[in-house]
Amino acid sequence: MMSITEKIKENLRIKIQNNLKRDYIRKILNIIGSRAVLLTYGATFSSKSDKYLNIVSIKNIKKSYSSKYPVAFGSLFLPYELFHSLEIVPFLPEVMAGFTGGLGLTDRTLKEASSKWYTPDLCTFHRCASGAVELELFPIPQFLICATLACDAAQKTFFIDAKKYGIEDNFYLVDIPYEKNSQSISYLAEQFEMISEDICKKLKKDLDLSKFANTIKLSNEFRYWALKVNELRKELAVYPKNFNGLNFILPFHGLAGTNDAVVLYKNIYKEFKRLLDEQKNKKIDTAKIKRLLWLHLKPYYKNDIFSLIEKNNYILAFEEINYVYWPELNSKKPFESLAIKALSHPLNGSVQNRVNAITEMVKDYRIDGVILFSHWGCRHSNGGGRIIKDSLKKIDIPVLILDGDCLNKNNSSEGQITTRLQGFMEILDSKF
Ligand code: SF4
Repeated sequence: MMSITEKIKENLRIKIQNNLKRDYIRKILNIIGSRAVLLTYGATFSSKSDKYLNIVSIKNIKKSYSSKYPVAFGSLFLPYELFHSLEIVPFLPEVMAGFTGGLGLTDRTLKEASSKWYTPDLCTFHRCASGAVELELFPIPQFLICATLACDAAQKTFFIDAKKYGIEDNFYLVDIPYEKNSQSISYLAEQFEMISEDICKKLKKDLDLSKFANTIKLSNEFRYWALKVNELRKELAVYPKNFNGLNFILPFHGLAGTNDAVVLYKNIYKEFKRLLDEQKNKKIDTAKIKRLLWLHLKPYYKNDIFSLIEKNNYILAFEEINYVYWPELNSKKPFESLAIKALSHPLNGSVQNRVNAITEMVKDYRIDGVILFSHWGCRHSNGGGRIIKDSLKKIDIPVLILDGDCLNKNNSSEGQITTRLQGFMEILDSKF
C-alpha cells in the first residue's frame, strides 16, 4: 500500500505529466513550496534526512522558477558558492533531468531531443535536459556557466541552450586545467573573478566580496557537517527507511554555500548519531551486513536494485558522490579557494586521482565490493571503469561494472541488471 508521501508524489507526477508547461510547474511549486504545505508535507516523511532533503530541494527549485531572481544554468562540477555569492539562482539542468526522470517525463523529453537531432550517443542527462529546454519546461536563464571538468556533453548542450535563449554573450565556459598546481590555481581563480565581474556588470551592481566571504563561511560549515555525517557512516549499518545517499547530488553540489545545506547536513548528522547510538545500545550484529561502495549515479526511474541489495543483507555504506574532496576554503581568498575546490575534484586530471579517492573510501568504509553504474553516454566515468576494476583487484576488492542508463529505462535491461547484481553478491558471499 502507498504511504501518504508516495500518494502525494504520484498525484503530482500525474498532474505534471498532463500539464507539461513551465507555468504549470511554477504553479505546482508555488503550492507545494508554500510554508504551510512544506511543513505538512515534511511531516509525512519517515526520516529527517528525507524530509529536509525534500524541503530544501523544493524551496530552491521553486526559487529558480519564481521569475523574481536572475537564474543561471550551471554544470554539475562547478563550485556553486560562486552563484550564491553573486546572488544568481543556480539551476542544474543535468540534476533537474534526474527529477524529470522521477516524474516519468523521460520518454517525452528524449523524444523531443531526438526530433531536434540530439545524437543518441549523448548522455541521457543532457538529452533529457535539452528536450526539457526545447519543450520550454525549465526556467529561462539569464546566464549559463559551464565547466570543462569531466563532462564533455555540458559545454555543447549549454551553448545550444544559450543560442536558443539568444544569450550567447552570457555563456561562460570555465576552462578547468588538468593539473593542480599554483599556476593552474591562479589561472582558474582569474577566470572566476572575470566571470563574477562580468555578471555583476550585466546585473548593474558592484562585486561585493563580503557576500563571497559569507558564502564561503557557510560552505565551510556545510563541509564540517558533511564530514561529520561521513564519519558516522564509517560505523552506521542501520539507515533510516528510504535513505539513499545517491539522492543528495543537488544539495551536495548546488547548495554548497547556503544555509539550507548547513541545516540539511546538521539534521542528517543528528539523525545518524541517534541511529548509531541505538545500533550500539542494542548491540546489533553488524558483522553480517555486507558493505558496498557505489560509484557514479543510479537509475532515477522505478527499479528494484536497492530493494534487492537490502533483501540480501547488503547496504550502500558509501557513495562516491558524497565524498568531501576539497579542503576548507579561505574566505579572504574567495576566487583562489573556489579554484582549489574545482581542481581537487577526483574526476579532474588523471584517472589515478579517482582511483586514489576510491581506494581511500574502500578503506575508510570497510568496503566488501564496489559497484560502478556505467551510465550510457558518460564517457569520462565509463572510460575509467577498467582501470578502477584492475586497480581494486590488486587489493582484493571485487568491482561490478553495471551497464545501464540512469534516465532511460528502455536502454537498461532490468533482467540483466538483476542477474548480474545477484551474481556479484553471490561472489561476495562466497568470500565471507
Ligand atoms: S553522467 Fe557523465 S556525461 Fe552525463 S552529465 Fe554526468 S558527467 Fe556529464
